Amino acid sequence: MEKILREKLVNGQFSNVPALRSKMMRAIKGANTKSTEQKFQKALIDAGITYFQVNAKLIGNPDIFFPFYHVVVFLDGCFWHGCPKCGHVPKSNTSYWRTKIERNKERDIQKRLILHEQGYEIVEYWEHELKEDLSRCVKLLANIIEDNLIRISSYAV
Ligand SMILES: [Zn+2]
Repeated sequence: MEKILREKLVNGQFSNVPALRSKMMRAIKGANTKSTEQKFQKALIDAGITYFQVNAKLIGNPDIFFPFYHVVVFLDGCFWHGCPKCGHVPKSNTSYWRTKIERNKERDIQKRLILHEQGYEIVEYWEHELKEDLSRCVKLLANIIEDNLIRISSYAV
């Protein structure tokens, strides 16, 4: 069964599924699993904060980018990024997961340091912070954006 499946999968996609159907399947999956990231984006828009970009081509792939304000936002999944509060290492393949998560954490630090050196203000949220109090996270970000506008405009003076 698995072998047959693999033969039909070209680049991880079913090659024999018409494009439209494939698109519909993705839409159905997406409708029920609104990610923390999408919820945060919606909360920003609801708060009148609309001037951001997603999928910006910056080092470290920040989740949200405010080009005019030089602010980048990372929404870090507690498991993959090793949250000290609720991140955990699975009981099986422990050393594999520990190494993988540690590597992710190192990579996060390195890439965010580069962004910092490039003059970006970096805002990081843990997944659990967004789930616990989304509006607090939005308010905090609104303040940071405002402060950073003052910071970057003081360069010009
Ligand atoms: Zn967490």
